[in-house]
Amino acid sequence: MSTAPKQRTIAEIPVQFVKGMGEKRAEAFRKFQVETVEDLLEFIPRRYLDRSTISPIAKVQLNEEATVIGEVISTEVVTRGKRRLIVRIYDRSGVLEGVWFNQIDLFKRIFSVGQTVAFSGKVGRYRHWQMVHPDFDILSQSREPLHTSQIIPIYPGSETLKKVGLNSYAIRRIVKNALEQFGAQIPETLPAPLLEKYRLLPRTAAYRAIHFPDTPEQVQQAIQRFKYEEIFYLQLLMGVFRHQHKKANPGLQFAIQNDFLRKVMEKLPFELTGAQRRVLRDIYRDLTSGRPMNRLVQGDVGSGKTIVAVLTMLMAFTAGYQAAMMAPTEILAQQHYLNLVELLDPFDVRVALLIGSLPARQKSEIQRQIAAGEVDLVIGTHALIQEDIQFARLGLVVIDEQHRFGVLQRGNLIAKGHRPHVLVMTATPIPRTLALTLYGDLDVSIIDELPPGRQKIITAWRTESSLPKIFRFIEERIRAGDQAYIVYPLIDESEKIDLKAAKAAFKQFQQVFPDFRVGLLHGRMSIKEKDAVMHAFKRGEIHILVSTTVIEVGVDVPNATIMLIEHAERFGLSQLHQLRGRIGRGHKKSYCILVTPENINEVAQQRMRVMEETSDGFRIAEEDLRLRGSGEFLGTRQHGLSDLKYVDLVRDVKLIQNAREDAFQLLKQDPQLRKPEHAVIRQRFFKLFADKFELAQIA
Ligand code: ADP
Ligand code: MG
Repeated sequence: MSTAPKQRTIAEIPVQFVKGMGEKRAEAFRKFQVETVEDLLEFIPRRYLDRSTISPIAKVQLNEEATVIGEVISTEVVTRGKRRLIVRIYDRSGVLEGVWFNQIDLFKRIFSVGQTVAFSGKVGRYRHWQMVHPDFDILSQSREPLHTSQIIPIYPGSETLKKVGLNSYAIRRIVKNALEQFGAQIPETLPAPLLEKYRLLPRTAAYRAIHFPDTPEQVQQAIQRFKYEEIFYLQLLMGVFRHQHKKANPGLQFAIQNDFLRKVMEKLPFELTGAQRRVLRDIYRDLTSGRPMNRLVQGDVGSGKTIVAVLTMLMAFTAGYQAAMMAPTEILAQQHYLNLVELLDPFDVRVALLIGSLPARQKSEIQRQIAAGEVDLVIGTHALIQEDIQFARLGLVVIDEQHRFGVLQRGNLIAKGHRPHVLVMTATPIPRTLALTLYGDLDVSIIDELPPGRQKIITAWRTESSLPKIFRFIEERIRAGDQAYIVYPLIDESEKIDLKAAKAAFKQFQQVFPDFRVGLLHGRMSIKEKDAVMHAFKRGEIHILVSTTVIEVGVDVPNATIMLIEHAERFGLSQLHQLRGRIGRGHKKSYCILVTPENINEVAQQRMRVMEETSDGFRIAEEDLRLRGSGEFLGTRQHGLSDLKYVDLVRDVKLIQNAREDAFQLLKQDPQLRKPEHAVIRQRFFKLFADKFELAQIA
């Protein structure tokens, strides 16, 4: 033991080496991404039972939610009546039964007489107190005393783990072994001065505290440390991105021809707002500075980001470079393309559209033109980042609706040019904390002003019983010359059932509005079909457009003043806000009607109320974050990082700011984390991010 052949850290030691971990258990753990000893230590309790909140069985009340702890005194499969397993526990004050109707054999194997177990659930009564399918945990096996601290850690308990005996008790034992065996091989992953500055627990102590706390305060201390660490590393990543970008010096220095831009601006049917001009000045400065631009433009729905992007692309064009814009949906890409073609008609600028659903022949022809430098501006979707797409001289990348793309996708498009300038745009207002966390590598410009003359949108939440009245209202408006969207939820465009529902809804609306032309738009239509429908709607030939959420982002038809959203309870707040952003774009009064069934849950009700109360995108984003919790907001799909485990983006603002400063400071001294004292940090950094990002440049 004393002369281990090679001193490895816990990040390198496979979890099988921990005592008590058989192959089966290691296998089960692997399903939870627990592969190394470090992963095991990071497999933390899901919650803690506080002894003061545990009810004596004699004191439980019918129908209350309770947690009880007791010793198993019998387990019995009863066949009278419906077959079921009954596990009786006793806690010196009384007896309570846990009852299982399903997977009886599995649960029978899990429980045995003499164990100490915890049951949580709703208390019922059938001769005895009982809980049907309680949330349970085994806290100690027979004859072993239950540990005596005030709080009891409860680990995530899934069937996969419980099947192989990995209940909280067993996990605690294994974690204990791990700490005993490898405690000396746990390197500190935070710089000592920072631990001191914030009085954070050292890493080993923090693991001990989170797995074996004596008091709730210890858990809090451990969490505080892990929170800081989590955000510190994320900010290191942002700092590395930022540094890479700044290092790309000199960047392309554009020689922009102002005359040309002025001519295009004269053709616009409106004056730019002050905010748009301010943002364009920021961009102009970036592009001519000789340093690569890396800017986020944040502006609420309808604030006029498109024209900012277009003028930016034209700046690149006049400097002799190609510019590419990536949009999240084909409909949006198409719309941008059509607008651009129209605007640039009198000028000699070559614009191309590149989207996945183009016929193969056409696609490869456009690819050829891009590579040969025969097109100047390219609008596209994900299709733009495919490997075989090459640009002759890509100088600018614009990413519309950044929140729809992951960090990685952004990187892939950027890699197509030789350090091109980057402009990302988002309509989803990003709360400040989130902006710092996810976009910490970008400079930010905000369009905080809507174009003049916009009407307030009236938003009303109604239940399905009001539909006839709503239809009459829509009819009235359309007779007065307006147009309407009816949005039908289609959660996933690959789901056939939903699609059927949308199509059925379309048929129904044709019957409800026999005098009007009703159109249908959904993601499964071919590009030609979509194009035809969007065009007809834009020209006013279609009065009512029944659509799935494909119209959520960007679609712009100013004459449409009504947005009816069916099953509004199924949408998230920012999605509702985006959808509502399709109306109120002209000078007419607009109406957004949210329709839900009578009974929807409390959180959904709150969402409806927020929508009625405000159209302030920033407030909506904050509320969204609050209602959903930050975990969901950071869904892996959205940003390409795993969820934050500890940090709460709403509450931990100060912490995020501190960690950001600290991380950037560290990188300033040691941009590549090469100093010997940063070796552990470097190693940890790569473990966390290397598989997610192409970091070849700092490796
Ligand atoms: P978003 O920021 O949501 O992408 P768009 O760029 O689609 O918004 O602009 C919304 C609408 O406002 C479009 O019809 C656009 O032509 C119009 N618009 C943009 N800027 C102005 C302006 N300065 N004055 C008037 N209308 C504008
Ligand atoms: Mg837009």
